[in-house]
Amino acid sequence: MISVDQKPSDLGRSGWQAILPERSPQPALEQDISCDYLVVGAGFAGLSAAWRLRQLDARARIVILEAGQVASGPGGRNSGFMIDLPHALASGNYAGDGSEDRRIIRMNRSAIAFAGEIARACNLPTEAFDPCGKINAAASASGNAHNRDYARHLESLDEPFELIDASAMQAISGSDYYQSGLRTPGTAMIQPALYLRGLAGALQQQADSEIFENSALCQLARKGQDWVAQTKRGSVTAARVILAVNGLIETFGFYERRLMHINLYASMTRALDAAEIDLLGGEPRFGFTPSDPIGSTLRRIDGTGGTRLVIRNRCTYDASLTLPDGTLDTIAPVHLRTFHARFPMLRHVDMEYIWSGRLCLSRNEVWALDELQPGLFSACCQNGLGLTRGTVAGIVAAEMASGKRDQSLITDYQPQAMPQRLFPEPFMTLGSRSVIRFREWRAGREL
Ligand SMILES: Cc1cc2nc3c(=O)[nH]c(=O)nc-3n(C[C@H](O)[C@H](O)[C@H](O)COP(=O)(O)OP(=O)(O)OC[C@H]3O[C@@H](n4cnc5c(N)ncnc54)[C@H](O)[C@@H]3O)c2cc1C
Repeated sequence: MISVDQKPSDLGRSGWQAILPERSPQPALEQDISCDYLVVGAGFAGLSAAWRLRQLDARARIVILEAGQVASGPGGRNSGFMIDLPHALASGNYAGDGSEDRRIIRMNRSAIAFAGEIARACNLPTEAFDPCGKINAAASASGNAHNRDYARHLESLDEPFELIDASAMQAISGSDYYQSGLRTPGTAMIQPALYLRGLAGALQQQADSEIFENSALCQLARKGQDWVAQTKRGSVTAARVILAVNGLIETFGFYERRLMHINLYASMTRALDAAEIDLLGGEPRFGFTPSDPIGSTLRRIDGTGGTRLVIRNRCTYDASLTLPDGTLDTIAPVHLRTFHARFPMLRHVDMEYIWSGRLCLSRNEVWALDELQPGLFSACCQNGLGLTRGTVAGIVAAEMASGKRDQSLITDYQPQAMPQRLFPEPFMTLGSRSVIRFREWRAGREL
C-alpha cells in the first residue's frame, strides 16, 4: 500500500487564474467508483494523458483526480512558454552532428502540435494558445555572446531565427534595458490557466470522462489485477493508473532522493490604463526568455484582465516540498526592483499578484516516466521546458498505459535512464543553494 502525505503551503494567488472569471470547480469524489484509466493530477501531463487516452480508446472510462483545483498547481502558475528548442544545443560545435538536437526538437514540436490541436478542438482563444514564437532577450555583454553562440548552433541545424538589435528590442518592449534579442518562431505562448481550464472543461464534457477536484489521492493499493485509489471521502478502482503529479511522486514513495524541487516565483502588474500604455509604447504582446536561464522571464499580455506585464525570477531549492512562510515577502521587492529597472516609466505601477510554484528536475535531466508496477505509470519530472515536456510525458504515459506505443504521436521519445541519486543531505541542499545564489549573482543585469 502506498500512502501519501502532503504538507500544504501558501503559494500566493496566481495572476493567471485571478484575471479569469470565477469558475466553479467540479465536485470532490464522495463515492466508490471504477474506471478503466485513473489519471492523478490535472496539470499539463495529466490532462494531456487523459486527452491522448480518449484518442486511443473512444469507449474507455477515464477518471481524473486533482488535489486542488484545475490550474491551481504549477500548471497554472508558470510563465506560459511552451518551447520547442532546448536551452542548450550540443550540435554545431566541433563534436556533434546535430542528430540528437534534431531528435529533441522534433519531439518537442510533436507535443506543441498536440497542444495546438487541443486548442483548436476546444475552441480556445489565441490568448490561451498562440504559436507566435518568443525572443531570447540579452541585457548584458555575456547575454549577447550567448545569443550569438546559440544563433550559430541554430544555423548549423538549419533552424530559422532572427537576431534583433537594441532599438528593435525597445520598439517591441518599450524598454531600453535590452541589448539584443534572438527571435525563434517555434514556441507557443500560453495563458496557462485558460488553456488548462479549457482542456479540463472539454474532457469533462465527453461521455465517460470525469474530473474530481479537491480530491487528493491519499492511498493506493493493489487489489487483484486492479488498483484502488483512496481519497478522503471516496475511492476509484482502476485497471491502470497514471501518476502525473510532478515532483510530488516522491511523496508516493517513488524516485525518493532522486528528484530536485525548486520553487520559482512570478509577479503580475495590475492592468495598465490608457495613459500608461502610451507611456510604455512597444507592442501589445511579447514574450522574452532570459539569455541566462537564471535571469528574468518577461511577458506583456493584453487579453482577459487587460494589459499587464508578468515577470519571473529568483528560485530557491527546498527538499521539503514546501514553501517556508514569509518567502513571498522576501521575493516581492526583487520583482519590483527588476521590473522597474526595465520599465522606469512605470515606476508608480505595483504588482497586483505574486505567487510561487514548484519545478521538478533530475540531475541527469531525465523524466520520471515509466511503468512503476504492473498497471501503474508515472509521467513526472519534466526538468526545464515543463510545458512541452509535461505534454510529452502525458502522451507517452497514455500510450504506454493503453499498450499502444506502436501508434505513438511522439516517435522521437526514447526510454529514459533512472533519475540519478541526489547527494546526501545536508550537502545536497547546501550545494544547490550555493550554486543558485552564485548563478543569480553572476546573472547580473539578466536577473
Ligand atoms: C513561476 C513558474 C514559471 C514557470 N515557467 C515555465 C515556462 O514558461 N515554461 C515551461 O515549460 N515551464 C515553466 N514552469 C514549469 C512548469 O510549470 C512545470 O514544469 C509543469 O507545470 C509541470 O507539469 P506537470 O503536469 O508535470 O505537473 P503540475 O503542473 O505540477 O501538475 C501536477 C498536478 O498534480 C496534482 N497533485 C499532486 N499530488 C496529488 C495527489 N496526491 N492527488 C491528486 N492530485 C495531485 C497537483 O495539484 C497538480 O495540479 C514554470 C514553473 C513556475 C512555478
